[in-house]
Amino acid sequence: LTGDRPTGRLHLGHYVGSLKRRVEMQNSGEYDEINILIADDQALTDNADNPGKIRENIINVVLDYLSVGIDPSKSTICVQSALPALHALTFYYLNLVTTARLSRNPTVKAEIQMRGFADEGLPAGFFTYPVSQAADITAFNANVVPVGEDQLPMLEQCKEIVHKFNSVYGETLTEPQIILPSNKACLRLPGIDGKAKMSKSLGNCIYLAEEPEDIKKKVMSMFTDPNHLRVEDPGKVEGNPVFIYLDAFCRDEYFAEFWNDYSCLDELKAHYQRGGLGDVKVKKFLNNVMQEELRPIRERRKEWENHLPDVLDILKEGSKVAKETAAKTLEDVRHSMSCLLYTSDAADE
Ligand code: ATP
Ligand code: MG
Repeated sequence: LTGDRPTGRLHLGHYVGSLKRRVEMQNSGEYDEINILIADDQALTDNADNPGKIRENIINVVLDYLSVGIDPSKSTICVQSALPALHALTFYYLNLVTTARLSRNPTVKAEIQMRGFADEGLPAGFFTYPVSQAADITAFNANVVPVGEDQLPMLEQCKEIVHKFNSVYGETLTEPQIILPSNKACLRLPGIDGKAKMSKSLGNCIYLAEEPEDIKKKVMSMFTDPNHLRVEDPGKVEGNPVFIYLDAFCRDEYFAEFWNDYSCLDELKAHYQRGGLGDVKVKKFLNNVMQEELRPIRERRKEWENHLPDVLDILKEGSKVAKETAAKTLEDVRHSMSCLLYTSDAADE
């Protein structure tokens, strides 16, 4: 199980942090089930006043999935608000965590600052969203969760809930393992402004569906090494977003195709570090790389955009299947808790 918040179109961070791996897993044939959840209800936790934005981005996110190669015949794409069992699971799990534990979550702490909740007041739903993520993960009995590094604390929290639940009520829930990107540059791709994370909420993204001229504009405006003022100055590649993106996307073939002064990224880095290489040249190369990487994604998206009713059907069908899966887990959970105030069996009787 993995998912995304429909707070905007998906970007390069999503692609390298999670989407690429989902497609690899899907095509490996090694997994019985792949579930992908569009977390619209979770997106409300910091967008309560803007449900329209979330609604319109659900379809954008499905289009982005299809355009990177998620295949609905192999992966189930579903939307959180269509799965009421997730809300019930969240409600039970909330009793298994403490507010002290929730306040230690470093990702949530950073997001509270970033979104201004520290001053304006913190919505309880936002504070507890890691619990709702635990519901999402366990509802599908997920054993692996391919995500970016910001999700590590969520997975830790989820494992704790699973242990607590199983120790109090008996073995019921599956413990999930996180799968992080193997390439260090992809763990948490920085924004084009050099901020630690490319994020929809920070407006520092290159989107997967971006038009060629916008990709170019964004790449050419990217933050680099602030001390690399003159071409002859030695430059830094560590922490330099342009080189981090090259680490994430560049392949040796791209040098043969676009810049045969070098044969690989290490040679280019060495020159930049020695001095004598200007940022504009490196950015032009990065632009070529990004254009190559994003073209097929954009083209596939445009094809799907001409078939929007089919896209909606994919989401509807996937949600129907997922609703059953989550409802089954909820039944198991209620059974283990022996608190069957209401079950579908009881209703039938
Ligand atoms: P928001 O700003 O609304 O929180 P976001 O850009 O952080 O949006 P999410 O929907 O929260 O995106 O994240 C979905 C998935 O994409 C998660 O697995 C997350 O780890 C991954 N991801 C998001 N941004 C990055 C990034 N910059 N680098 C690596 N992985 C990322
Ligand atoms: Mg996020």
